[in-house]
Amino acid sequence: MSNLGFRPEDVALPVGHFLAGKLVPGGADIAVTSPGNGRVLAYLPEAGADLVDEAAQTAARVQRESGWASCAPRERAKVLRRWADLVERNAMELARLETVCSTRPIAQTVGWDIPFLAEGIRFFAEYCDKVGGDVAATATNLLGMTVYEPYGVTGAIAPWNFPLVMASWKVVPALAAGNGTVLKPSEMTPFSVVRLAELAVEAGMPAGLFNVVQGTGLATGEAICRHPAIGKLSFTGSTRTGIAVMKAAAESGPKPVTLELGGKSPQLVFDDITSVDDVADRIFRAFTGNAGQVCVTGSRLIVQRGVAEALIAALVARCGQVKALAPWDENATYSPIISEPQADRILALVQGSAHAGAQELVACKRMDTNTGGVFLSPGMMMVQNAECPIWQEEVFGPVLAIQVFDEDDQAFALAEHPVYGLAAGVHTASLPRAMRAIRTLKAGTVWVNRYGRSSDFVIPTGGFGGSGIGKDLGRQAFEANLRLKSVLMAAE
Ligand code: NAD
Repeated sequence: MSNLGFRPEDVALPVGHFLAGKLVPGGADIAVTSPGNGRVLAYLPEAGADLVDEAAQTAARVQRESGWASCAPRERAKVLRRWADLVERNAMELARLETVCSTRPIAQTVGWDIPFLAEGIRFFAEYCDKVGGDVAATATNLLGMTVYEPYGVTGAIAPWNFPLVMASWKVVPALAAGNGTVLKPSEMTPFSVVRLAELAVEAGMPAGLFNVVQGTGLATGEAICRHPAIGKLSFTGSTRTGIAVMKAAAESGPKPVTLELGGKSPQLVFDDITSVDDVADRIFRAFTGNAGQVCVTGSRLIVQRGVAEALIAALVARCGQVKALAPWDENATYSPIISEPQADRILALVQGSAHAGAQELVACKRMDTNTGGVFLSPGMMMVQNAECPIWQEEVFGPVLAIQVFDEDDQAFALAEHPVYGLAAGVHTASLPRAMRAIRTLKAGTVWVNRYGRSSDFVIPTGGFGGSGIGKDLGRQAFEANLRLKSVLMAAE
């Protein structure tokens, strides 16, 4: 990659809500800081219940009156495809907006986030006219059917770690299914989705169908969850907040929720692997990508004794090669931590685990950098028992907790987590072992001899247990934005 670098002060930020197709500036309630240099980028207005109500009522009216739900579904697909084209045409602007405010380096937003976003929109466009109902087996003087219809308005609440991609997994299937939507991005990464919403209108989506309200969880998020006109919620964030979202949805509906929550995902390495280096590359990427600030971070390594020493040595060597550069430097590959308090939390968890007996193989510590951002170096800890905090808690930082096993059953027992079940990785050359692992591991996704999603959007993603309810991506995410109506007709 070359010529990707830029100056953060050259990026124009769309500061405000996006209501009825227009940017609406407001107060200056929340300071938004760039993780790349620690500087305040802008002050964000906060939407209270009144503004959330305006957004939801607008989305409901436009959804009813614009023909978005009633038109031939292929017409909606055309708009979505134009939207994807516009995302690509404005890729550099979107990538810079994303990079300036989030933890995503410019080479990655250009190379992955924005292309992935555009293709994700195209993927859901294809479902617009592919999901219908059934005709039931009834007596021939009756016609029984099931038909799908949109909810009307959906609510979407997104996290800060991949602001555009995570938000798009909620709003795009909702819109493709014929709904209007109200999105609240994280108050830490609020800008790029506003530009995405502007591009939707430019592509021909009725103004007011897709609204963005800015604010914190308690003021704005909670008002979305409790709004009576919002018929379905999709949330991505921590398990604790997910529980609050579900409670609010129950008390104000009940209304269905899709919850994509936290994880503490294990990676099992058996001693039959054919290349320690290849597996080390995978494991390293899986716990240091976005500096570990990924829901599916492979943060627990469960390695068989025969290969443990070689693999750990290969990982230790990789830890020493990481460089901290500002995210807008074209050579940046490693991410800053989203905020000072989050860095403090990660370091406290590491320290607490060391006190609880975990052995630090490589220390996770603040890196020397002149960027102004907070960077933590990758850390590795050898753990002796499953109660150790670094083995139990989601770090959301670049720290790998390690345990060694002898027998396969031991590995599967170690992989179990009392709360989470988001993803798991299995690295083995043995087909029977892989097949047993697939059936045994309690995780919403099992990756074998790879770690991480591909651009096969057809494969849904979501967790078991405390990692969530429902799926993003796949046909399932599209269908979750529709409700099923049963029809029984007699001739007269
Ligand atoms: P968070 O739970 O703090 O916040 C997520 C969103 O919820 C933000 O927009 C926040 O403002 C909002 N919010 C906070 N309190 C709320 C409330 N009471 N009602 C409604 N909304 C509220 O999470 P985060 O720190 O932004 O993101 C990190 C977490 O997200 C991690 O736990 C990570 O694992 C999880 N995550 C999961 C997935 C997945 O697909 N499973 C993907 C990305 C991130």
